[in-house]
Amino acid sequence: MELTLWTYEGPPHVGAMRIAASMEGVHYVLHAPQGDTYADLLFTMIERRDRRPPVTYTTFQARDLGGDTAELVKRSIQQAVDRFKPEALLVGESCTAELIQDQPGSLACGMDLGVPVVSLELPAYSKKENWGAAETLYQLCRGLLKSQVPAPGTDRPGPERWKEENRRPRVNLLGPSLLGFRCRDDVRELRGLLADHGIDVNVVAPLGARPADLIRLPQADANLCLYPEVAGPLCSWLERNFGTPVVRTVPIGIGATAQFLRELCALLGLEPPELREADQRSRLPWYSKSVDSTYLTGKRVFIFADATHAIAAARIASRELGFTVVGLGSYSREQAREVRAAAKELGLEALISDDYLEVEQAMAQAAPELVLGTQMERHSAKRLGIPCAVISAPLHVQDVPARYAPQMGWEGANVIFDSWVHPLMMGLEEHLIGMFRHDFEFVDGHLSHLGGAAAPAAQPMAAPVNEETEVTPLSATPEGGSLRWTASGEAELSRIPFFVRGKVRRNTEAYANERGVAEITEETLYEAKAHFSR
Ligand code: SF4
Repeated sequence: MELTLWTYEGPPHVGAMRIAASMEGVHYVLHAPQGDTYADLLFTMIERRDRRPPVTYTTFQARDLGGDTAELVKRSIQQAVDRFKPEALLVGESCTAELIQDQPGSLACGMDLGVPVVSLELPAYSKKENWGAAETLYQLCRGLLKSQVPAPGTDRPGPERWKEENRRPRVNLLGPSLLGFRCRDDVRELRGLLADHGIDVNVVAPLGARPADLIRLPQADANLCLYPEVAGPLCSWLERNFGTPVVRTVPIGIGATAQFLRELCALLGLEPPELREADQRSRLPWYSKSVDSTYLTGKRVFIFADATHAIAAARIASRELGFTVVGLGSYSREQAREVRAAAKELGLEALISDDYLEVEQAMAQAAPELVLGTQMERHSAKRLGIPCAVISAPLHVQDVPARYAPQMGWEGANVIFDSWVHPLMMGLEEHLIGMFRHDFEFVDGHLSHLGGAAAPAAQPMAAPVNEETEVTPLSATPEGGSLRWTASGEAELSRIPFFVRGKVRRNTEAYANERGVAEITEETLYEAKAHFSR
């Protein structure tokens, strides 16, 4: 048992629903108790789809458990096929149905339905939503492509066969799905980017694909693994069985987009992209070089997201915006190795966890000036009074915007620049609040461009400068004594701009603890400052 209030991912059958709902012509029969239809709302309200997801639930009730639930499953399958006439059928269970073991997939396979049936085995008590999505996409493609797999030892066509066939090269875009972060616009952005380089798109899947499109997957010269959480296993399988090479660089950010294009062009035997393309096509490089961005240098940022977006964000933050990454982590256990490697490059230890309280604690400890995270981190950051931008699923309805808002490619970098910088205090205001602390409106922590709402709650305000004021008991010293801030220490601390105050407080306390100093005065604070800047 694990006490859980918030969860980053749903159960794996929600991942399977994402695949079915992203596609056309696929229907999903889900053996599930009454009430599981809640998941429809993810698609009709968050994604704002104008139709129900293509899912038939068996919706068994307590009284059904005394009877033959397997009959109920068979009836539901037959009704779904008769009514929706799908081109492929997925059959699986939710968590509760897994316990009663009706084997709905096997039942469907034995029913002679006249459509390809994919029986899904999604262990709901050990795996989660993204795993469920990846497994469903993989099993569906595997089922549909079975007959096309060349015999072992057969020659596989190389990625440059387009030249012999006298056509443009073509690639598959794999991984975009509903409830993924900005997938709709990422696909549009990439289509444009590829077209500029003379590359056609063969199939986009699962988003918008039909089963007949999946049958054409092996016709591509390369696969672009855009969302490894969803498309990783499928890309590896296509590579193993059809010899289709995979580009695994995810084009989020300037450096990654350039690298993605270089890799893809080299693979397909195309002219390498121009070095200046990024500067010509995206505004991020100039915006982050322009003098107004100087104050962004060294801003401490905490990143927690799915692996794909966390790794991309760490690279953009550290190499393209000049931030200092002070925390990096992900809830994607399947990609933990990649996140750990990215963190190591930054001299950090990755936080791999799906416990939002642990993440919140790490966030508080790192005392960042900006948080880049999921909806969960947005809540945590709000509680701690830290500016935040959402960069990954789990997402809320605001992150399925009406406007064009990709993350990938050149325009994606523009969107990222605006949305990450927006929550921060603007340079002039930061400077003025640091200089004049007694304004009645532009008070400590006020962000006027956000309507002034984001005052930080995390750091206690300073005591007035009065030597008679009692010292503030704070944390315990390692020897069990009590560590205290004197009024002069607190007053000096209050002069530190609010967005770095948490970090200074923590450093000073660590310094005092190390030296066995029980009372933190103004001098202790400056000694600690000198110590840490050495
Ligand atoms: S079966 Fe699973 S998804 Fe459905 S209500 Fe129970 S715990 Fe939730």
